[in-house]
Amino acid sequence: MTIRRRDFLKGIVAGTILASTGKPVPAAAERDDRMPAAAVGILYDATLCIGCQACMVACKKANDMEYEHSGPDEIWDNPRDLSSKTLNVIKKFQHGDGLTKDSDPGYAFVKRHCMHCVDPSCVSACPVSAMTKSPVNGVVNYNKKACIGCRYCQIACPFNIPKFEWDSPFPTIVKCQLCSHLLAKGGISACCSACPTGASLFGPVQELMVEAKRRLGMKPGVYYDFPVSNIAGGAGTGSFQSHKAATYVPELYGEDEVGGTQVLMLSGVPFDKLGLPELPDRSYAALSDGIQYAIYKGMVYPIVVLAGLIYMARKQDEPKK
Ligand code: SF4
Ligand code: SF4
Ligand code: SF4
Repeated sequence: MTIRRRDFLKGIVAGTILASTGKPVPAAAERDDRMPAAAVGILYDATLCIGCQACMVACKKANDMEYEHSGPDEIWDNPRDLSSKTLNVIKKFQHGDGLTKDSDPGYAFVKRHCMHCVDPSCVSACPVSAMTKSPVNGVVNYNKKACIGCRYCQIACPFNIPKFEWDSPFPTIVKCQLCSHLLAKGGISACCSACPTGASLFGPVQELMVEAKRRLGMKPGVYYDFPVSNIAGGAGTGSFQSHKAATYVPELYGEDEVGGTQVLMLSGVPFDKLGLPELPDRSYAALSDGIQYAIYKGMVYPIVVLAGLIYMARKQDEPKK
């Protein structure tokens, strides 16, 4: 019998929670309890992505971000990764001959930005509530006025998303906020508006989840209609496009990872090859809450530790007496 690393991680976390709290890991349904009913997000389908980077350009424009050059002689915006100037990046996986799309050996694209976690570690770690999760649409926002620059959110994020403006005299944290300023005006995220193929699709998370499951059930090689821009209709609505269904990895990334995320991903190549981390189903925030609860429950452990320290201090004093 083989044990996958993901299952191994799940086992460790489940064991830790059980040992510390005496309670089993809750079912995946916990995700739905924590997520607001009107939560919105993005479904990124790597098999529809053509690597055009229109989403990156639209993101820069909508969020008034500087262009970024990765070398001294480069004149185009060409960030290699997320940074304090780049909220969204398209990366390419390539292996072997690099000829066939969405296969290994072959190549595939992946879009990286904030996952808008259902139970975000960055929010849990921030000591001054500069990171907050909207109780209405679940978007994880950042308030630079409240931020004290401790960078705990950077350390806590399991997806390595928040970046710090090291080159600024008044640095702030930088991360995708799902274009909250556009949502407030009834719009949708700029990256989804700009995506020509529907690879980046905006909408209510519950509807995106149904659409993702539909895709996982498609017969590879058969043509189906895929919605473009906004699955819910209304602002930014594109149309439907007919595409040949790819052979998907039978997994929806973000459905369970760290308690679920509002950005969901489908791919033809295993997610770890695209640089996405293998994570437990339970959120780190819930895990630390559980452990703290177990430690401080009834103040038994702190009292025992304090008594031990007093005993040791007295013992040390004895020779002097
Ligand atoms: S991906 Fe990172 S920055 Fe984004 S909500 Fe989750 S923990 Fe926070
Ligand atoms: S939602 Fe907005 S900020 Fe986030 S990646 Fe898309 S365009 Fe950029
Ligand atoms: S705009 Fe759409 S197709 Fe183009 S790189 Fe971005 S996600 Fe891929």
